[in-house]
Amino acid sequence: MQANRYSLKKRISFTYISVYVGICVLIILSFVVGCALYVRDKCEEPSDLLATEIAFEMTTSGGQIMREFLYEKCLLYGINEVFVYDDDNEVLFATTYIRDNDRYFAAKDKGMLTGFLPNFAEISEGVYITDHKKTVVDDEAQHDVRIIIHHSISDELAIFKYIVNMSFVLLLTGLVLFIVFGVSKTHKMLMPITEMTEVAKKINGENMDLRFDTTGAKFELSELALTINSMMDRIMESYDKQKRFVSDVSHELRTPISVISGYANMLKRWGKDDEEILMEGIGNIIQETETMSELVSTLLFLARHDNETLKYELQQTDVSAMMADIVKDAILANPGVKIFSEIDDSLCSYLDEARIRQAVRVFIDNGIKYSADGEKRLFVTLKKKHDHFEIMIKDNGIGISEEDLQHIFERFYRADASRTKDTGGYGLGLSIAKVIIIAHGGKIRVRSKPGEGSEFTIILPQRTVPQKKD
Ligand code: ADP
Repeated sequence: MQANRYSLKKRISFTYISVYVGICVLIILSFVVGCALYVRDKCEEPSDLLATEIAFEMTTSGGQIMREFLYEKCLLYGINEVFVYDDDNEVLFATTYIRDNDRYFAAKDKGMLTGFLPNFAEISEGVYITDHKKTVVDDEAQHDVRIIIHHSISDELAIFKYIVNMSFVLLLTGLVLFIVFGVSKTHKMLMPITEMTEVAKKINGENMDLRFDTTGAKFELSELALTINSMMDRIMESYDKQKRFVSDVSHELRTPISVISGYANMLKRWGKDDEEILMEGIGNIIQETETMSELVSTLLFLARHDNETLKYELQQTDVSAMMADIVKDAILANPGVKIFSEIDDSLCSYLDEARIRQAVRVFIDNGIKYSADGEKRLFVTLKKKHDHFEIMIKDNGIGISEEDLQHIFERFYRADASRTKDTGGYGLGLSIAKVIIIAHGGKIRVRSKPGEGSEFTIILPQRTVPQKKD
């Protein structure tokens, strides 16, 4: 891990430097090629012309040529020296006798001619030498001559060397500046990644509120840091919920377990002899066990929902009949409560009847449970709308405060008023109802005022049995 820590920086810097060096090489190469082309155009063409003119002059003057003619032409074409040789490499005419051209013959014979430089023989001591073979007709006889022409390119070479040296110095200076500033810029740009890595290493279950500092990060890195931060917020939120859920579950289970254990101990001590104690203990143990088993099955339901393994058995259901049935049961079970209902006829929908009954019962039970002193009234309605239907349960109970309204659908949430009141709930009823309604594509609307009562409306889409595909 540690060995690779700066590898991204190194790689980026290395890429930049390679590109820079590549561009420098290209610049120098194109300069060299440009100079070579310039020298070629300056030397090759006039020397070819001159060689042709010399051959023509020799032909017309019977193999002779005037020195003045050569000087004049050299001056005209800017040429230094000209040597004319016969077939046996003997000098016929020359502007000077000082030079020995054997080396150039040898160079040329080694195959240095190309299409690009057809006459080029050699560059030596600032002189570009060309070698031309021409045919001269002399006294009716035809023989070959060889014309060696020297061009002085020392001025061009001097400028060329000077420019190349200067370019090297400039490009090297550029390279040093590039390394110093480019590398430090890359380092600075990628610094937030190093910092983010450090912070990420520190984040664990105990430390989930640590966040990346986004002030130094720019562009995509800042976006990345913000995205990870908001992701961490969401993870922390669900982690906290999970933690709270686990602690609530253990808390809720602890009470019945300790009650059962208390009664079991009591039975062990006195139950054998005292029938009354025996019956009381057994009765309480059965009751606590039932409560616990109810809680465990509720938790199992939520766990299945969380794991997405919860199955709904959808079927065409007579919702009107179902609601009438639920209301009838509620009236029977709660003789002290005035329950009014208004149920639209013949409303059918494709749903899991048992689950929807379970959800509606939660609202009815709550309406009865969280009643205020005085006459208890409950209104239950089923209304058919355009493509959906609404089940409304309204009570005249204690109502819910604005603060509590935001949390009542959270698992294990119980408003303070209901905590103090011994209503016996675990704060799971509404969570379960919500899960069921949402799974059916519905939603829940709540209106409540403390002291006035609450109104819960379940809005469900009206569905028909899906057609089977062939
Ligand atoms: P519980 O098992 O405690 O009833 P629920 O999830 O059903 O759990 O309800 C969560 C909380 O919402 C209750 O503890 C109660 O404070 C509040 N609540 C729900 N329904 C009503 C209602 N009809 N009137 C007043 N408070 C309600």
